[in-house]
Amino acid sequence: MRYSEMFLPTVREVPSDAEVASHQLMIRAGMIRKLTSGIYSFLPLGYRVIRKVEQIVREEMNRAGAQEVFLPMVQPAELWQESGRWDHYGRELLRFRDRHDRDCCLGPTHEEVITDLVRNEIKTYRQLPRNLYQIQTKFRDEIRPRFGVMRCREFAMKDAYSFDADEAGADASYAKMAEAYRRIFTRCGLVFRAVEADSGNIGGSYSHEFMVMADTGEDGIVFCSRCDYAANMEKAEIARPASRQIAREAFLPLDEVYTPDVRTIEEVSAFLGVSPKQIVKTLIFNADGAPVAILIRGDEEVNEAKVRNYLNCSELDLALDDMIFEVTGSPRGFAGAIGIKTRIVADYSLLHMVNVVMGANRADYHVKNVNMGRDFEISEFADLRVIGKEDPCPRCAGELHFARGIEVGHVFKLGTKYSEAMRAVYLDRNGREQTIVMGCYGIGIARTAAASIEQNHDDDGIIWPMPIAPYHVIITPVNVNEGSLRETAEALYRSLLERGVEVLLDDRDERAGVKFKDADLIGIPLRVTIGPKRLAEGKAEVRQRRTGETSIIALEAVEAFLMEKIRLDMS
Ligand code: ATP
Ligand code: MG
Repeated sequence: MRYSEMFLPTVREVPSDAEVASHQLMIRAGMIRKLTSGIYSFLPLGYRVIRKVEQIVREEMNRAGAQEVFLPMVQPAELWQESGRWDHYGRELLRFRDRHDRDCCLGPTHEEVITDLVRNEIKTYRQLPRNLYQIQTKFRDEIRPRFGVMRCREFAMKDAYSFDADEAGADASYAKMAEAYRRIFTRCGLVFRAVEADSGNIGGSYSHEFMVMADTGEDGIVFCSRCDYAANMEKAEIARPASRQIAREAFLPLDEVYTPDVRTIEEVSAFLGVSPKQIVKTLIFNADGAPVAILIRGDEEVNEAKVRNYLNCSELDLALDDMIFEVTGSPRGFAGAIGIKTRIVADYSLLHMVNVVMGANRADYHVKNVNMGRDFEISEFADLRVIGKEDPCPRCAGELHFARGIEVGHVFKLGTKYSEAMRAVYLDRNGREQTIVMGCYGIGIARTAAASIEQNHDDDGIIWPMPIAPYHVIITPVNVNEGSLRETAEALYRSLLERGVEVLLDDRDERAGVKFKDADLIGIPLRVTIGPKRLAEGKAEVRQRRTGETSIIALEAVEAFLMEKIRLDMS
């Protein structure tokens, strides 16, 4: 490709609305442009990268025995009603009516459609196992689209679905997919980790996320320093504290104190001179429209994914003021457990607390020396908090490490969640009806490309790993108005093209400095500079984007040098 003819609008300034490096660089390198919130167009350079990621995904899925299909994006409500998700998916599901007034949605994922297809076609054990995948556009009406294509509303996903006769088969399919994912993300130049994960809206028995390690990642992950336990913080379990015999402090008399305008844990702690560990936080949640009070020790944080799973609800938000008033009779900031009119669930952290401070359910008041059993009752305890630095590994009690990650892929053991609800069955060897056991496996294509930029860039721009680079080589004649420079560059360009090298010729009439800056920004792994001094010696300069290393090479050897370098970096 000739740079002069390319639709490649690079930008020098850092876009003001882009917070993370990958978003900034994808805009600056002319890869993407925003159409509207969370919806992006891919320009030629960006789309080449997307196609490369897709191709790697395709090759590895095929290698693992999956077969490619292409399913519709518009899906009828009936299928979602059958699975039970029409009422449970929440507002990420974009619903609409067609001209016949039939309810439809844009597919955020395809479990229903694929299960429908398979139940109609698969009848006996002889047709199992099967693994079907597609690379297709999904729509999720994300509440907070951000970071460019990392969290957008319309995006391409590779989603695969496995169908097995039994649990053992399903486990083998799961392992095969996890292995394919390892190969895919390694080829995309990523440093990643597979972690135990919450199954969210998809559901099923268990799941793992593939996390790209990056400080800008939206997910917190923990991993053990001793065993191989690793989990998303949403998921990381905290054991119920042993009900050891503790020296019981005597219950002190209740004491209501005037705490004007003192609402947060920090304010209460400072005002009353007590440690946050001695305060109980009462959070009123709106769970699918009904209020629920969650109690937790003041220095701990509620893990909303755990609360959602425990309550088995689809929409969970902190209650608004009117709901808080309805259940506590007081404004926000003074909720407590005494006399409250709603379901209460307490985190295990409350188990051994005595003489605590909590809101008085009365404006501007807190109560001291509150005690469970005497002043209020709790019938439900659960693990509802975010794991912290002092918690041990839930498997081996070793020390935990914390890091941030970007979720690029997610594998789920679904079990029979969908096949049971939608009656996807087969006849076994004995002619008995059995339920198909399923798994599903997703990869965000553009998120993978963006994650690769997060891990592969410097102050000058992107540093593409060779397998997903939009071009392998850029040829930069320092002055196209000089006949010999231009002709040498053109000859090398034609010859590389003939050999199948993906090459960009920067034939623009621009200063060399401008061209070098653009080449660095768009991240092409190898740059060949054709300049007057080297050309006079019959040589050219080859520079590697990642290391900055330059080699002066005889013109006739440049091609072989480039091709060897590309070959090495592709594997
Ligand atoms: P997240 O927790 O980030 O919202 P998810 O758990 O909802 O993701 P899955 O349903 O597991 O995502 O989807 C499979 C893959 O699709 C994810 O691993 C991710 O790579 C990609 N993906 C999901 N949501 C988005 C999005 N809004 N924008 C871009 N890619 C996405
Ligand atoms: Mg996920």
